[in-house]
Parts: sequence; C-alpha cells; structure tokens
Amino acid sequence: MKSLINYITGIFKGVWSLVLGMMVTGKYFFSPWKIVTQQYPENRKKLVMFDRFKGELIMPHNANNEHKCTGCGICEINCPNGTIEIISKQILLDDGKKKRAIDKHIYRMGMCSFCALCVKTCPFNALTFSQEFEHAVFNRAKLNKVLNKDGSSLMKGVE
Ligand code: SF4
Ligand code: SF4
Repeated sequence: MKSLINYITGIFKGVWSLVLGMMVTGKYFFSPWKIVTQQYPENRKKLVMFDRFKGELIMPHNANNEHKCTGCGICEINCPNGTIEIISKQILLDDGKKKRAIDKHIYRMGMCSFCALCVKTCPFNALTFSQEFEHAVFNRAKLNKVLNKDGSSLMKGVE
C-alpha cells in the first residue's frame, strides 16, 4: 500500500514540476520583452560588447597605413606568456643613418591571457584591444597574427 502511495505521489510531483516549467515558458512567450537571454548568432550584427572588453590585441593604423610601433620590444619583454615576438629590421634614413624599425609584430592569440601588460607598458600607445570576440578557427595557426599591416610604416612624429 505504501509503495502505491509513493508511486501516485511521484506522478503528481512530476506533473506539478511540468506545470511550473510550462508556466515559466508561457510567461516569457506572452511577454517576450522580458526575455534577457540574447539569441546568438542571430544578434551578431547589433551585438555590442562592453567598453572594457578585451577581444583581441590589435595595432591601430591610420588612413596612411601608419602605426606607432617603433619595434622597441618592450611589450615582448613584459608579456608573461611569450605571446609576442618582435622581428625588427634596419632602415636607412634620408641622412644616411640606420635606424631600427619593426618588421613583424607577431601576436600568438592562443597563448594570450589578455592581461593587457603589453598595452599598458608600450611607451608609444601602439597597441590596444579590439571588441572582436569570435575567435573560433579550425587551424590553431590562424590564431597567430602579424599586427603591423603589409607596407605600413611608423607614424611621423613617433620616435
Ligand atoms: S608595440 Fe609598443 S612596446 Fe611593443 S614593440 Fe611596438 S612600440 Fe615597443
Ligand atoms: S595581453 Fe598579456 S598575455 Fe596577451 S600579449 Fe599582452 S602581455 Fe602578453
């Protein structure tokens, strides 16, 4: 007799649990403006990340394809994960003198902990974080990026 009571009680609890769940579903079905969950990727175009979001390390370039990176290597030294590799080159100035310049600023995003030490310690404000948040790739090598664009040069006035 006791097992029969437990059985029937279990059925009622299950049905009640189902009713509660359906009530929540019904509440949001009839008042969709209360839904806080965002539908991704449907909202991809209008999705705005918060200001302090660190999506991906980038090196801003101006309209003349100029950046502020001198190739000093400070970000490479300060990065705790060995994420940054600076490959520099010598360039010849108009006065015949040689000067060190950036050849490649390599950023291995797969090794980045987004600590922002590189951004904070760069003496020339050459780095920042973008709001890009979609980083899924099939090949891990695609997470390795060269931050200075092809044919870019040092912005005038940055020494
Ligand atoms: S990004 Fe800044 S710290 Fe890094 S090499 Fe360029 S100028 Fe130096
Ligand atoms: S955010 Fe931190 S871990 Fe990432 S590259 Fe900069 S210093 Fe390295």
